[in-house]
Amino acid sequence: MENQTTITTEAKPERLRQALLEGARRLKFAGIEGARLDAEVLLRHALGMEKSEFYLNLDALLPIEDEECFRKLLLRRAQREPVAYITGRKEFWSRDFLVTSDVLIPRPETERLVEVALERSKLCAGRAQLEILDLGTGSGAVAISLAKELPEARITAVDVSIAALEVARRNSERHGVASRIRFSAGDLFEQVAGEFDLIVSNPPYVRREELAALSPEIRDWEPLTALDGGLDGLDCYRRIIADAHQYLVPGGHIILEIGADMGKAVAALLNGAGWYAPSLVYQDYAARDRIIVARKTPPSNLTAKGSNRG
Ligand code: GLN
Repeated sequence: MENQTTITTEAKPERLRQALLEGARRLKFAGIEGARLDAEVLLRHALGMEKSEFYLNLDALLPIEDEECFRKLLLRRAQREPVAYITGRKEFWSRDFLVTSDVLIPRPETERLVEVALERSKLCAGRAQLEILDLGTGSGAVAISLAKELPEARITAVDVSIAALEVARRNSERHGVASRIRFSAGDLFEQVAGEFDLIVSNPPYVRREELAALSPEIRDWEPLTALDGGLDGLDCYRRIIADAHQYLVPGGHIILEIGADMGKAVAALLNGAGWYAPSLVYQDYAARDRIIVARKTPPSNLTAKGSNRG
């Protein structure tokens, strides 16, 4: 009997500081890059604490039920589930977005798409109400960021995935822009009607043979339909560029996120379409080509071009 009491070692609560170090050690052991930061985010998630509160309480004891929760979160992360899916959130354009495994996790480089779209929106001055189309909206991060920055704009956000649209709709409600975003289920332009000042999209653009080489976080957890761009990665660009001119006002802009080595190929598609002024490629903050923009030529120029040809 006496022996028994000595071996029933009841888990002793540890301090947040220790739990953090131990969590980071476990993630590092599992081969997770950025283990320290991930451990902190997951521990704060288990505790429901913001950063400042967490750092003020590093010497507090970790309640046993939070410790259990933290352990489960670490296990998920060790299996390469992205932190954003575990916490259900991701920051984009300084706002907090809900994410589930039905949507691509918004990437920092996609903020460039918002930035360039905002720049181009200034060239649409004079239009009573800006109309924007977002193809493949996913979590709605781009559409909602644009709606927040452009209070006069109306946005149509399309996705082929009903589950993704549900996430986007919830995000639009959280950010108070639901009334200005029309959500539409469909494959690219399938269900789209009307004309737009801006068409924006971050389509799937990973080359099929490169899918296997993506990090396990992406390859095994993120929706394949949001990544797989076909054999050469350009399938969606071909389809978007084949139809976009029908949905753009004269002088409207098409703004697409692209893979870092796709600038030339997508520019060739845009130029080949015959509806656009020469395209422009913008780089992201890692100096990689990331966004391509083309402006639909106003009717007068089209006529001029036509007569030159003749
Ligand atoms: N940039 C994404 C990646 O992580 C790809 C996103 C996309 O295909 N639109 O590889």
